[in-house]
Amino acid sequence: MKSSESKFFKSDEALQAYSAIKPSILKSVSAVDHLRFIDAESFLVEARKTLVEYRKTCDDEISGLLDDLWVLDQYVDAFSSYNRMWNDIIDQKYSSSWNELQNVLDRLRWIKKFSNITVCALELQMLGLESLYPYQIFFSAGWIVDYFVCAICGNDYGSDECSHIVGELYKGKFASISPNKIIEMDHVSAVEHPADKRCVVQYPDQSNHFRNVDNLASFIRSNEQAISNFSSVNAIKIDVKNPKYRMLRRNDLCFCESGIKFKKCCISKKIVAGKFFQFVFEGKSGAVVS
Ligand SMILES: [Zn+2]
Ligand SMILES: [Zn+2]
Repeated sequence: MKSSESKFFKSDEALQAYSAIKPSILKSVSAVDHLRFIDAESFLVEARKTLVEYRKTCDDEISGLLDDLWVLDQYVDAFSSYNRMWNDIIDQKYSSSWNELQNVLDRLRWIKKFSNITVCALELQMLGLESLYPYQIFFSAGWIVDYFVCAICGNDYGSDECSHIVGELYKGKFASISPNKIIEMDHVSAVEHPADKRCVVQYPDQSNHFRNVDNLASFIRSNEQAISNFSSVNAIKIDVKNPKYRMLRRNDLCFCESGIKFKKCCISKKIVAGKFFQFVFEGKSGAVVS
């Protein structure tokens, strides 16, 4: 049936629970806008209590309802990470804000996979933020393990005893696997598109690597912009003056210490490619050159 595709959840009952927690979520988002992060979390505690109460009264046999309630837990957790992430950014704890950002994105992926709750505005904000961080290359470790245990049935995931599929939901339980025993580390590789973006090169929070996020944090503070109005980032390529450029005579050795004559080396590099980040807030925007 076509009409079921536009439904938010697998079960109609879950819509009641969603409506019941929505006011607490909105209050939490508004508290983040006012940089009241502790209050924001207390509203989410309210939302969690509502879900716990709802679960007590609901009929587990209703098809899809347990899966839907799992999605709603992820929904609340996404806003909890959103809250901690912005708290970290405002407190200039940029490394830790990156992990919370990944927590939000993971949850949004699951919410989109298992429901039709609209999360695109939040996702757009997260992807914009992601582009401001310095991380380009990630580490990925390969392990040799004896076998993987299924979180749902406890059996060897590769055996006939387990019929589950990783990343799927079974009556409100998420199928994941973990190694039974790690025998040895096989390799560590640097990759551009890892399964987990949390394994990164560590930079100090005060370092220049975080200048773009730092600029955004200052912009929010000084313009008193509401965080929830921050909608995306435009990265625009521009030409900027090369700060290292020095004008020399053509036959002099180049300033870059290549040992080559200036005319054959950096003579044309007076202007280099730079990036211009435009922070888009609903209605207003602020721009920073990077
Ligand atoms: Zn299993
Ligand atoms: Zn040169």
